[in-house]
Amino acid sequence: MTPNSFEALPLAAPLQRVLRELDYHTPSPIQSQAIPLLLEGRDLLGCAQTGTGKTAGFALPILNALHENPRRMQTRKCRTLVLAPTRELAAQVGKSFATYGQYVQFSHTLVYGGVGQNPQVNAMRRGVDVLVATPGRLLDLIDQRHVDLSAVEFFVLDEVDRMLDMGFLRDVKRIVSLLPKRRQSLFFSATLAPNIVNLAHTILNDPAQVTITPQFTTAEKIEQRICFVDRSSKKPLLEELLRKQAAADTQNLSIVFSRTKHGANKLAKALSAAGIPADAIHGNKSQAQREKALARFKRGETPVLVATDVAARGVDVRDVGLVVNFDLPNEPEAYVHRIGRTGRAGADGRAVSFCAEDELEYLRDIEKIIKMSIPCWDDHSWHVEAVAERHARGTAPARKKASKPGNGRRRSFRRRSASRA
Ligand code: AMP
Repeated sequence: MTPNSFEALPLAAPLQRVLRELDYHTPSPIQSQAIPLLLEGRDLLGCAQTGTGKTAGFALPILNALHENPRRMQTRKCRTLVLAPTRELAAQVGKSFATYGQYVQFSHTLVYGGVGQNPQVNAMRRGVDVLVATPGRLLDLIDQRHVDLSAVEFFVLDEVDRMLDMGFLRDVKRIVSLLPKRRQSLFFSATLAPNIVNLAHTILNDPAQVTITPQFTTAEKIEQRICFVDRSSKKPLLEELLRKQAAADTQNLSIVFSRTKHGANKLAKALSAAGIPADAIHGNKSQAQREKALARFKRGETPVLVATDVAARGVDVRDVGLVVNFDLPNEPEAYVHRIGRTGRAGADGRAVSFCAEDELEYLRDIEKIIKMSIPCWDDHSWHVEAVAERHARGTAPARKKASKPGNGRRRSFRRRSASRA
């Protein structure tokens, strides 16, 4: 039986207290299934997307163990190691541990690249209970003997699918080889492709498996729409959407996805010039610039964030009401990750994707993995019927050859939610 309240879970008083203060009443499905297994000491293979509450799902039982079994810190060592693919996600996980563990006596620190290593080395000198790290910088510090993994009791690999997409497989394997054999391991991924399951089995010992959202299905709370347009119409359509969103009473923050860093910069500038304050975050921005942009976004000072896929990982902002795919991603899984930035923790959200004629193949790949056809939104002045029809007929042209669409503009609202033959 899975518990339907946090009180029913055998979590220690300091954790129950923080959950009450945070107003968390009901465990999310991943929490109610994973927490009891983790409290029993089982290894876990979790198939769950961001936004399902998985961070509390692993942080609460680990904090519970640290609280019940406090130990003196050993220099350069950590009792818990959480590996995350990006610094934003690592920072987010670190923040979650700090929040959930605010009444627990424990120490934690972050290790990630893009910033000076000295403060991280100093923090590790004393040893910590929880180290949240990205793989590259962690290995740098291990190689310089500033970090020693021989005392790890809890090992969490978060967002493994992303980790592999980013080319961290070798780093992860090296890190795992440095861990003690006796440990509790937790492995989370939004997808369970065969290479991911294989990796999981080399790391986990007789794991329990918890699958939350079925593989590749997108969160039900998110209203998805596709707009068939010319490339040149994307900007005015975006401005119209963002102006409407900014006027909304609640959830007025928007994230716009661009395929390239250059595109993200250009778009943020153009939007700001058009009177819609926007910031860009991507891999070429320094950590300080990204953090500043994120803070301004959270405060609503710049209600629009233009992001690339990697930079948006770990962005956890509750009031994101709209995600716009200005460009469709060429990897279909990225679509699921992108739209998961809205509709967080049960809130409603909208995801609007722009599709020009040369992106029809990407759309087809996306619809294949989400197992639905995204309803078309054509009640705007830039709809191109010829592209919509080409998609409906399934005759996308070769990716590079973007022929000029005809003048098939129409202003009618039509939904294509029924699956096509
Ligand atoms: P995550 O999937 O871990 O990134 O969590 C998504 C969001 O859900 C975060 O903003 C959490 O603070 C929030 N959250 C997690 N668990 C709960 C819960 N049981 N009740 C309410 N909010 C939650």
